[in-house]
Amino acid sequence: MKEKIWMSSPHLGGNELKYIHSAFEGNWIAPLGPNVDGFENDLKTYLGAKEVAALSAGTAAIHLSLVLLGVQAGDEVLASSFTFSATVNPITYIGAKPVLIDSEKDTWNMSPELLETAIKDRLSNGIKPKAIIVVHLYGMPAKIDQIASIANRYDIPLIEDAAEALGSRYKGKALGTFGKLGILSFNGNKIITTSGGGALVSEDAELISKARFLSTQARDTAPHYQHSHIGFNYRMSNIVAGIGRGQMEVLDLRVAQRRANHQFYEGFFKQIESVELFSEPSTDYFSNYWLTTIIINPEKAGTNRETLRLAFEQENIETRPLWKPMHMQPIFHHCLSYTDGTAEHLFENGLCLPSSSNLTDESKARILKVLNQVFTKH
Ligand SMILES: *Cc1c(COP(=O)(O)O)cnc(C)c1O
Repeated sequence: MKEKIWMSSPHLGGNELKYIHSAFEGNWIAPLGPNVDGFENDLKTYLGAKEVAALSAGTAAIHLSLVLLGVQAGDEVLASSFTFSATVNPITYIGAKPVLIDSEKDTWNMSPELLETAIKDRLSNGIKPKAIIVVHLYGMPAKIDQIASIANRYDIPLIEDAAEALGSRYKGKALGTFGKLGILSFNGNKIITTSGGGALVSEDAELISKARFLSTQARDTAPHYQHSHIGFNYRMSNIVAGIGRGQMEVLDLRVAQRRANHQFYEGFFKQIESVELFSEPSTDYFSNYWLTTIIINPEKAGTNRETLRLAFEQENIETRPLWKPMHMQPIFHHCLSYTDGTAEHLFENGLCLPSSSNLTDESKARILKVLNQVFTKH
């Protein structure tokens, strides 16, 4: 069997162990310490954000966001349908109801038109949604200007799920800094990894200070353990944060490498009319191209997504269909949704290609061989 080519693998920079050693030397083996502070500062500087709290996971950051915004059981929360389930699951943790919004064709992210339709419809039913969670999928910025202005107009707080979009920008401004709260993930397959981890980003220092309080069991100031709020154990460990500090040193390089992957695929697909390579709609959008993705038109191509996926699998190369929209998932099928078929079409015809920042020339040659096989047969 040939060596496996992963879709998105961890890629260490080299200094991660140095920071982990310093945690051991200082005996900071805890969910606080110099690496947590250092990692938060690195993120703040990189994003140009006012405040960042490092947490145990992106999912925890989304859950805390909803708690911080006062979302309660029975409330409605609007969210992108075309996403990973971790965007929407936390809504149900507090007993609130997800209302799912379909994508538009330019960025594959939340449609501003459908968002406004949904808000008007809910208001006309006497229900005001408590928050909006917009996702920047595969690193591509959503139409965040329009979405933020709708959120403002209707006075609904905006949470940006930028789990896949660290290093991406819209009109030069870092994703994660447009909403009331932004969330990041450092899971093993993201553009940088801490093995597992996340962060909460905001311009509102008070919200982040409350996030730090709630994420460390919400202990009141008293010599004994006293609690007047329900707390969580969501803070990032000082060991894990050490990996993050090392990874921040190479983040810009990782963005450049992922963007080079996109260019590599562009070289092949520019001659294939039946395939759309997912690309920035204009120079306002700067994607980290976390994953390079394509849409195949099966009628024109004489082949389809599944044939291509299986051809890659045969060569021990990992690819994956695009996210299955949440309104099509057994767990969220019953939820209210505002859809026009865009995400369903993407799911049926789209594929994520191997996009690791450490993709070798040898791997690229194996990938090209499969692409040539599948697309020149027809
Ligand atoms: C990875 C991811 C998350 C969850 O982040 P974790 O750190 O794995 O909990 C949330 N939303 C999206 C879009 C993601 O890709």
